[in-house]
Amino acid sequence: MIDVLAIGAHPDDVEFGVGGILARLAQQGKKVKIVDLTRGEIGTRGTPEIRKAEAEASARVLGVEDREILDLGDGQLQANLESRRAVIEIIRKHRPTIVIAPHVEDLHPDHASAGRIVSEAFYPSGFANYPAGGEAYRPRGVLFYQAHLRFDPSFVVDTSETFDKKMEAIRCYASQLHKEQDDEPQTGISHPEFLGRIEARDRYYGSLVGSKYGEPLRSLRLLRTDSPLDFF
Ligand SMILES: [Zn+2]
Repeated sequence: MIDVLAIGAHPDDVEFGVGGILARLAQQGKKVKIVDLTRGEIGTRGTPEIRKAEAEASARVLGVEDREILDLGDGQLQANLESRRAVIEIIRKHRPTIVIAPHVEDLHPDHASAGRIVSEAFYPSGFANYPAGGEAYRPRGVLFYQAHLRFDPSFVVDTSETFDKKMEAIRCYASQLHKEQDDEPQTGISHPEFLGRIEARDRYYGSLVGSKYGEPLRSLRLLRTDSPLDFF
């Protein structure tokens, strides 16, 4: 049993979307596992081997040592029965209380597919006779994080105390980021302003809830509370 299973389409997705949240959960002693559904093998920069080493270094910075990288096809990730079964088997093996995944609407089709795979896996994972390995288990909820496209969050987590750790984790992906005298092809992530954009977004969401930094999450279902006071 773990507390949180955080899923990305590519190594680095969870860092951008929920790096501050994962570092905060780790600091709180929660059991967190990261699963990247693809190796990032068609990335413009770096190689899968470099990205794996970077992803492992980043996980250590976040305090989440348990990271697994699947090979479901970078650039071709699809919500189909094969990918659903792979995610169900991960869920059944680790039995997380909640699963966090990229939002189902995004510019990058792999991110959107990863969100769909998770949203279509978590429910049938609880069917005793569903044709997948492992013992039936359904997490209590799924939360989505933002990648390229703005969405309407259900809530914002205050990440002021772990924002620096998030940025340190992101800087582990040196092959993807801007550097001086850079001969490799440029991408959105290698733009010199990229880290500043991440900071601006987290400042923005923090400003909406009265904290310095924040990361937004969206729930599929309406969230319940026992008391409105819990929010304040
Ligand atoms: Zn990605």
